[in-house]
Amino acid sequence: MAVLVIAEIQGDGVAGQRLSEQTCRAVTAAQQLSDNVDLLLWGTSSAHIVDQLQGYPLGQIHLLESAAVEHGLAESLAPVITALAVDYQAVVAGSSTFAKDLLPRVAAMLDVGMTSDVIAIESEDTFIRPMYAGNAIAKVRSHDAIKVITIRSAAFALPLTNGCDPVTVVRVREDIAALAVNDLSSFVSEQITESERPELSAAKVVVSGGRGLQSAEQFHLVEQLADKLNGAVGASRAAVDAGFIGNDFQVGQTGKIVAPDLYIALGISGAIQHIAGMKDAKVVVAINKDADAPIFDVADYGLVGDLFDLVPEMIKRLPQS
Ligand code: FAD
Repeated sequence: MAVLVIAEIQGDGVAGQRLSEQTCRAVTAAQQLSDNVDLLLWGTSSAHIVDQLQGYPLGQIHLLESAAVEHGLAESLAPVITALAVDYQAVVAGSSTFAKDLLPRVAAMLDVGMTSDVIAIESEDTFIRPMYAGNAIAKVRSHDAIKVITIRSAAFALPLTNGCDPVTVVRVREDIAALAVNDLSSFVSEQITESERPELSAAKVVVSGGRGLQSAEQFHLVEQLADKLNGAVGASRAAVDAGFIGNDFQVGQTGKIVAPDLYIALGISGAIQHIAGMKDAKVVVAINKDADAPIFDVADYGLVGDLFDLVPEMIKRLPQS
């Protein structure tokens, strides 16, 4: 079996760019399918990332350096991946918004099914994935010749990156690269949220605020506690809908899935849709003035009280990490 992992790049400027942590974890998942794992690396500045990947458990890197894929539009990348996929039995990527846009299109073009949000791999054709906002776990068997899979990165470790043979780099053939030129979509602009804080999906500590914060001004308490703990900021959908913070920060079924070492929920009731996004956190701490709030059912440590009294006290007493 041969597996093609689709790279996603993160970081600012050419020098700051690197393979996303989700892609690195997708490589680990791919290794559980096969020892024969290749990577598609795309973009106008992808060549310098190749150096970072020496030592990775990869056979070869398909390098697609083309202005047509500069912004990673699904309509440009999907035909290229579909053409490359004929030599593979599985196409794998992390469960990011990028992959959620791209891989269903690839699956449709290959006329195969799509298996998303895989949390464990049982065999070459059998995968475990959550359903109903994590309330049920399904075992899915795919009979397709090419499996198209996204993986929940929290469920897979980072790959070991030493002791491997050097990676071979092959440029994508010109006739295949030409498929990236499309007239279905074009890039207009993007707005990137700049933050000094760790990225929410990969952070070891996440401090999330809910409707209990009452206003955007008071939501700064969440940010202050996150900064004290060198953590990322998250939010419930109610907090996002109320305009306390942008929807990039939403945790839950329709937001980001997080699995930090420590998750602190402030003024969040614990609706199942929120729990679906954070229940894999190792330690959950909840502060809520309602002792019967469902968040306490999943919390390892709970503090019943007014967050406007308790959180400033915590910020005062905690050392800067
Ligand atoms: P509330 O439920 O209003 O809870 C506020 C909590 O703050 C209460 O428990 C209250 O006791 C406490 N509180 C108030 N004041 C204080 C104080 N001073 N000190 C301490 N505690 C205080 N939600 C998500 O979060 N993420 C999702 O991805 C998501 N997806 C959804 C998808 C669908 C299809 C649907 C239908 C809903 C979804 N929701 C999602 C919404 C979800 O059902 C809840 O409405 C939402 O999570 C509630 O947010 P909350 O806990 O902040 O607000």
